[in-house]
Amino acid sequence: MKSLYGKFLVITVGTMLASAIVAFLAVNTYYHRYLKGENDAKNVKVAEEIALFIEANDGIDLPAYFDMLAGVGYKLLVKSPNDNSAVYGEAFRDDNLEDQAIQKVFSGEVYHGMREQKAETFVTGYFSNESANTVGVPFMYKGQTYALFLRPDIKMLFTEIHYLLGGMVIVMAIISILTMLVVARKLIAPIIVLTRATKKVGEEQFTSELSIERRDEIGQLAKSFQQMVDRLSDNDQIRKAFVSDVSHDFQSPLLNIKGYADLLSDEELPANERIHYAGIIQSETERLSTLTKQLLLLTSLDQLVSPLQKRVFRVDQQVKETVRKFQWLLQEKEISVMLETEEVTCKGDPAFLEKVWENLLSNALKYSPDGETIDIRLTEKANEICFTIEDTGIGMSSETKNRIFDRFYRADHSRTREVEGTGLGLSIVEQVVRLHDGRIEVISELGLGTTFIVYLPTL
Ligand code: ADP
Repeated sequence: MKSLYGKFLVITVGTMLASAIVAFLAVNTYYHRYLKGENDAKNVKVAEEIALFIEANDGIDLPAYFDMLAGVGYKLLVKSPNDNSAVYGEAFRDDNLEDQAIQKVFSGEVYHGMREQKAETFVTGYFSNESANTVGVPFMYKGQTYALFLRPDIKMLFTEIHYLLGGMVIVMAIISILTMLVVARKLIAPIIVLTRATKKVGEEQFTSELSIERRDEIGQLAKSFQQMVDRLSDNDQIRKAFVSDVSHDFQSPLLNIKGYADLLSDEELPANERIHYAGIIQSETERLSTLTKQLLLLTSLDQLVSPLQKRVFRVDQQVKETVRKFQWLLQEKEISVMLETEEVTCKGDPAFLEKVWENLLSNALKYSPDGETIDIRLTEKANEICFTIEDTGIGMSSETKNRIFDRFYRADHSRTREVEGTGLGLSIVEQVVRLHDGRIEVISELGLGTTFIVYLPTL
């Protein structure tokens, strides 16, 4: 059975049948254990009263009397002294009354066939329509001993009310099964919708909106699924935009290199122009190299398994070293750096954190006019290190500030465009800080300057 609906149907009908069988067995066992004896005693009492009545009315028309008793719901077997037997009421299905039992009754004993009936698993003793499943008493009629065996006629006992109850059970069963079928359809319908939606997502179609308005578990599943699809759709768009940005960012320097290389092939080109073109090719190559390195770094940061190899190290020494590396660039722009550090250690990946300081310092340098000052402070407070880098450069608008951590984002600012960059540096910074469970804040005012503050846990 492949479909959930089919399984549900089989389980429901199976449960109903199994419970009916279990109930039947339980009732049967209860009859054999507790009711059999009582039933036997009740019927013996009836038989004895009949015997007493016959003995008190010796001239009674026996067959007519027994027919009357059969008419009110008894089956009777009467054995006469000359070994004749007569059955009143509907015949027994099985005439298995033993001679020994008959002789006992003739000799004055009571026969307890109902009480002594063997317990059988799948036969309800009460309904067992056999002559052995009776009670027997002797009675005297016209000076002779007879044996009377009787049991209630089950068919006669089934009155209209029993048929009504039986009908009710059947109607209940039919209504339950039909309701189950409808409920199962309703329950399974959203799963079918979800399955279709999952297939679409598998084919990278993220457009469909699920129309499942439910508050139960399936509704929650649909809601989570929709959220997942929305996220996948966002990611898909980011990925596509990323690929197109990457291709664009690779394309323009490559076109420049090709164009200037073509110009260089002109043998009559004056020396100064050749030097100029060669310089452009060199800077475009450097740009491509930086872009490739940054993309590789970002890809390694995007891995599900963190690429960080953390160890405890002196951050202040690393920051000092970074400033030293930038010394000649700083001198070129006549920018001075005010460095204030205390001895600070932290548990992190030194190689990745170095990229953080480098990117922030190179930005401060890039976006500051010549002759300005950059302030760097490194402090430790309450198991947290705080790295602040403050410049008095071009600053940013609030729109730029909101987007600086997006990949490939570069402010559309004429002065920014003049500066070399890829728009990847701050994305790397943000991701490295996040992987170290830290956070980064930016305070910036257009035309006044920018401050970046990085907080990192020490352990
Ligand atoms: P880029 O390679 O363009 O510098 P980043 O990701 O490092 O890429 O920075 C993204 C953008 O954020 C920059 O293009 C610039 O507009 C802005 N920015 C970053 N740092 C500063 C800063 N110190 N001062 C002003 N603008 C900045």
